Amino acid sequence: MATSFIVLLGPPGVGKGTQAKILAERTGLVHISSGDLFRENMKNQTELGKLAQSYMNKGELVPDDVTIAMIRDRLSRPDCGAGAILDGFPRTTAQADALTKMLADFGGDVDKVPYVTAPESALVARLSGRWTCRAKGHVFHEKNNPPMQAAVCDFDGSELYQRDDDKSDTVIRRIQIYLEQTAPLIAYYRQRGKLIEINGAQSIEEVAKSLLSALKN
Ligand code: AMP
Repeated sequence: MATSFIVLLGPPGVGKGTQAKILAERTGLVHISSGDLFRENMKNQTELGKLAQSYMNKGELVPDDVTIAMIRDRLSRPDCGAGAILDGFPRTTAQADALTKMLADFGGDVDKVPYVTAPESALVARLSGRWTCRAKGHVFHEKNNPPMQAAVCDFDGSELYQRDDDKSDTVIRRIQIYLEQTAPLIAYYRQRGKLIEINGAQSIEEVAKSLLSALKN
């Protein structure tokens, strides 16, 4: 069976997580968020979680070897047989090379890389107004996408909280790290003919429509 591995690329705050959830619902592919996997490990106080926390709270990247091993383990589960939507991974060239190798081992390849863009000024505003649900990581924004009831998730009723790394100093550091370490992946995937540019400065539904039509073509 043909697989479909999609890498969502774009700066922090551009809406990758929100879009990945919508795409997963509409395509039936699994959504894999490296940030969610780290947060899950932090919540459960695993060794991996404790290690990741020290990097995440500073807005730094967790080391490649640890991150790659975590994603390899996740991708080897049976629910990824038809493919997956990867959100937040890869974030470095070494991770991108490792992804190509691991997918080749599973008989697949990265199919398409939608690159969602937005002006830098919008990113800081989006991240610092963001509220995340404790149970499942559903994401809201106090201005652009408010929950129906303040501080309560519309989908599962759990509490909404502000991620430590969504506070303003860390947000600026995350954007800087993105520009230094992750932005080179734009050229990396463009050279390989996989990159599709998507304007992220539109409504959530408009971005979702652009993404779905880009993935169909
Ligand atoms: P995110 O939820 O994607 O914004 O990720 C939150 C944080 O988790 C990042 O700022 C990093 O500290 C860590 N993280 C997530 N994905 C990766 C990755 N692919 N490589 C290294 N660190 C990551």
